[in-house]
This record gives sequence, structure tokens and C-alpha cells, in this order.
Amino acid sequence: MFHVKHPGFDVIVVGGGHAGCEAAAAAARMGADTALLTLSLATIGAMSCNPAIGGLGKGHLVREIDALDGVMGRLADKAGIHFRLLNRSKGPAVRGPRAQIDRAQYRAAMQAELRATPNLTLIEGSVEDLELSGEAVCAVTLATGERIACRAVVLTTGTFLNGVIHIGAERVPAGRVGEPPSVGLAATLARAGLRLGRLKTGTPPRLDGATIDWATLERQPGDAEPEPFSALTSRITQAQVDCHITRTTPETHDVIRRNLDAAPIFSGAIKARGPRYCPSIEDKVVRFGERDSHQIFLEPEGLDDDIIYPNGISTSLPAAVQAEFVRTIPGLERAVIRRPGYAIEYDYVDPRELAATLETKAIGGLFLAGQINGTTGYEEAAAQGLVAGLNAALRAGGGEKVIFDRAEAYLGVMIDDLITRGVTEPYRMFTSRAEYRLTLRSDNADQRLTGRGIDIGCVGSERASAFDTKSAKLDAARGRLEALTITPTEAARHGLDLNKDGVRRSAFALLSRWNIGWADAARVWTELGAIEPAIAAQIEVDAKYAVYLERQMADVASFRRDEALLLPDDLDYAGLAGLSNEVKARLGEARPRSLGQAARLEGITPAALTVLASQVRKGRRIAAAE
Ligand code: FAD
Repeated sequence: MFHVKHPGFDVIVVGGGHAGCEAAAAAARMGADTALLTLSLATIGAMSCNPAIGGLGKGHLVREIDALDGVMGRLADKAGIHFRLLNRSKGPAVRGPRAQIDRAQYRAAMQAELRATPNLTLIEGSVEDLELSGEAVCAVTLATGERIACRAVVLTTGTFLNGVIHIGAERVPAGRVGEPPSVGLAATLARAGLRLGRLKTGTPPRLDGATIDWATLERQPGDAEPEPFSALTSRITQAQVDCHITRTTPETHDVIRRNLDAAPIFSGAIKARGPRYCPSIEDKVVRFGERDSHQIFLEPEGLDDDIIYPNGISTSLPAAVQAEFVRTIPGLERAVIRRPGYAIEYDYVDPRELAATLETKAIGGLFLAGQINGTTGYEEAAAQGLVAGLNAALRAGGGEKVIFDRAEAYLGVMIDDLITRGVTEPYRMFTSRAEYRLTLRSDNADQRLTGRGIDIGCVGSERASAFDTKSAKLDAARGRLEALTITPTEAARHGLDLNKDGVRRSAFALLSRWNIGWADAARVWTELGAIEPAIAAQIEVDAKYAVYLERQMADVASFRRDEALLLPDDLDYAGLAGLSNEVKARLGEARPRSLGQAARLEGITPAALTVLASQVRKGRRIAAAE
């Protein structure tokens, strides 16, 4: 599969992780002649850490990737072995689909998917350098010295840039366990003047499932009716398995406390910042000293795999200490560690170096996506990969840029957060990061984005036709529900209690009430029973949220007005009257794309924004008059 001479490509994607796979698939769907170039073809689609996809906020991203015809959701449906809709008891806006994944099946499915993707060539090799023509990238150079020309590059090298693994006092240069780090490329990026920083993340030891005492543990089954990620999956057909739950004990914490001086995060060996919301067990024991127990989910890594991922005890303590503390945990008294946990420190590029397309501001045609931008998580990586892949293809083909804003997608929220505020710790998606979360639900990702994807050109015919069919059914059902009406007196005859105000309400208005469900409406109008359950469920959620969405529309309109006031790339902030020197310096450094983005920068006051807006409008009037 190693190609010796290549005529060149429109887009070269470097890296076969979650960002790389999605970037390559997206660029190829756009019709760009694309290469995915990665260290090992066998690790394409590998899950470096937990065997799970989705979750709160993350599940929203997977649905959005799917809505734009990306691959992650479809493949997670194929390889998912335990599905749960998180936050089921809360409102639909914050529910998050999540699945345990059979690691080997996912990797195999991703490799098969990419091999079968038209316009895509897979190449094994290590990219060491980038070649520039003027201020734009024009080729990559491999460790073998081979040069491959291209019009755009998407770098998705994850934790590999100058990666160093820590287990106790042991330090091993590596991108992931057993894989070499990427050193040449890190030097290239620094030479190009991009600001680099250092972050860390960690992973727990892997346990031999045959040595766990399952009978003593609490069982956690998946949902009885697994809900797929993809709009193209009608039903999950994969066999499903249980997870189990256990907890650390005071004895576990004693072992950890006794060995803290051997923990690289406390000995000073690790300097970089890790994810606050996903701390190592030694960090939890120190930070939450008052707690004598922490929950651990025992998650299977696959159907034909005995390895268990103990979610909640990520650690970089020495291997012998890991073995000692694991055996103080109920059910794990005889557990054998198949691979010790470890922490990894790596370089990332300050994402404020990027535009909203994920193209670097300094080097034309160079796009970055995934963990290299300071994020953590497969879904965050994949969503960025998709956006970078689309834009790399558009740049190569001379098309218009594609930007998703904060009011239309979580992926827009994430990218805007990254490029506007940068990161101080690995960035993870949460629903709380989105200000328009009533609009950005995981259940309506297709309705928000697939039409846009069709216009962009990244949605294939199968999804486009499924989307058209579903939209037509939704329109017809909604029309019918608006046409059916009822008075309070008539409703009372069906046991439905409405204000006795004589007002005739539509069936849709009835469903907007939280105490009236589809089954109630179908009792009144039996014809509703003929509407298929998925359409009924979607209409009911739409009805419940309709009134809130109307209120949110005004906020969205004001947000979009500020986003539409574009600030010229070459605006001379230093020369603007009425702004403090500090504000001028911040604006000059960040060079925000729009007034809206300027407002989200730290230290930019409403008064400064008013001045900025009036100066830009004045400048435009003068330019128009000349
Ligand atoms: P990766 O999946 O890392 O893929 C990088 C790709 O780039 C690989 O295919 C590699 O071969 C390729 N590559 C690198 N350098 C070169 C080069 N020079 N030339 C060619 N190819 C190259 N996420 C969580 O959400 N929760 C966690 O608890 C968590 N813990 C983690 C623990 C560890 C130890 C690690 C390593 C990661 C962890 N993650 C965690 C992060 C998660 O694995 C990543 O966020 C996700 O895999 C990032 O995807 P990516 O595509 O950016 O990079």
C-alpha cells in the first residue's frame, strides 16, 4: 500500500485518528482528490483511550457530524455494544446519546469505510516537514525524503507532537503507547511561528476481565431500545452487553496517598495542564480529600475481547502501585492488569492561530484539527476534522469558505470558543457552553444541518433523499396538527384539562404543554395513530420547545447582526479613536472576524464595542462615497 511516487493531491490529511478520518472523508465527499497519510494504516480509526463514543455535549457533536454525512455516527451504530441515552429524565435539549464501542470492530469498520471512499488514497508514512510556496503550503515531506505536492494540508496529529509518556518515574518519548512521537513536525510548526503550548492527558490501566469477580458487582445494562446516532440507521442489530459499577475504598486512597511522591503530576515531572473535569485518581484523592470513595464504570472493550476499561481511575503512578491499589477495589481483588495506565504530555498549537475554517492565519492552505488544537475527545476531534476537511477541499477547488456559527451547531460553538478564547486545559464539549441549547438539540441535528450540507455539497444522495422524505413527513404531520383544533370543553370530554377560556387550540398547541403527550392527542384524533413513531416523537419535541424557540429567535437575530458586521482583516486598530490602548492591543492581536467575535474576547467592554461598530460603519460609508 506504500505508494512511491505521487502526482500530488488536492488535499493531504496527516493522521488517521478521529479528526483525520472525518477530514479525509469530508474532503473526498466534496470531490477533492484526497490522501490520508498516517504513521500506520493498521491504526486508522484507533480509539486511544476509552471505548465509548458520545455522551453529554459529545453526543450532540456526533449527531451533527452525521447530519453533514460524516462517518462517526454510522460506524458507532455498527460497532456499538451498549447504548444509553444520558439525561433521559431531563429535557431533550440536554440529552446525550452515548455508546460503548467494540474497539476492534470500530477500527475495522473505519478502515473499510475509508478504503471504499471514492477520491481517497490511504498512504502509510511519517510527515516530517511542510513545504511552502510564498505564504501557502504546497507539499509535505516524509521521513523517507519523499515529497508529495498538494493544494491544502489538514494536520490531525493528536497527542503525537513531541509526546512523552509517564508511568511513575519512567519517561518514554511516544505519541501513544507503543507508537513513536512526531518531533520533526513539531519543529516545523514552531519554525513557522505558530505558538505552541503543552498539555497532558491520561488513561487507566486495562484489566483482564477473566480475573474480575463479576457476581459481586452492580450491573449496568444499556437501554432496552438502543437509540442510534445516525439518521441512516434504522435499528441497532449488534449484540449488546452490560457494564458494571464498582467504587474505590478508603484502602485504595491510603495506597495512593502513601505513593504520591512517585506520581509524576505531584513530583513535578509533569508540568502541563490536564483536563480538570477528568482528573487522574491520584488527583481526585488529593483534591477531594473529604471523599472516601469514587465511582468506577467497568466497560468492556469489545465482544470478543476480555479487556476491561475501568473508567474513573486514570493514573500515571508506577505499575506496581497501580497493581496494589486496583486490588483494594471490590470485585477487583484478583484483577490482573494487562497494560498499566499512563499520562502523556504533548505539544498543541494555540487555536487562536486559526480562522473559523480551521485554516491557520499564518500559512495559507494549512488546516489543523483535533487534539493538536488543544481539545480532548474523539467527537471534538471528528467534528473539527469535518470542518477542516470541507474547507481544505473548498480552498483546493477555489470554493467559498464554510463556517458554522454558534446559533446553528455545537461544532460552531466549539470552534468559536477555541479560536476566540484559546485553551488553558484540554477543551471538552459541554452543553453548558452553548447559549442557544434549546435550538441545538441532538434530536434535531439533521433538521438544522443536513439542508446546509446539501447546499455545501458534502451530503450524498442516500442521506439527501432520506432527509427529503423525513422533512416532507414532518411538514405533513405538522400541517395536520395545526389544522386539527379543539375547544376546552371538547378537550375536557377526553380528560384533558385546559383553561376554560373558550379559545380553540390546535393539536400542535396542545402538544406544547408538558402535561399533554402524543398518546393524549392520538386519543382525541385517532388519525394521529397512523403517523410513524419517529415523526410523532420529533413533532412532539418541536411542539414542546416552540414557545421557547420563538423567544430565542430574538436573541439569535441580534447575535447574527453582530456576526454579520465583518471587521476588515487589515483594520488598523491602533489608529481607531476612542479605544483604550489595552483594547486596541487585544483587538490587534486577536484580529476578530466580526463584531460578534470581538464581543466574546476577554476584556472587550460593551462601550468599546459600540465605538468599534461605529468606527467600522463610518469607515464603510467613507469607502462607499469614494
Ligand atoms: P489521534 O486519534 O491521536 O490521531 C493522531 C493520528 O496522527 C494517528 O493516526 C497518528 O498515527 C497520526 N500521526 C501523528 N504524527 C504523524 C506524522 N508525523 N505523520 C503521519 N501521521 C502522524 N479523550 C477523552 O475524551 N477522554 C479521555 O479520558 C482521554 N484520555 C486520553 C488518554 C491518552 C493516553 C490519549 C493518548 C488520549 C486520550 N484522549 C482522551 C484523547 C483522545 O484519544 C483524543 O482526543 C482523540 O483520539 C484525538 O483525535 P485526533 O484525531 O486529534 O488524534
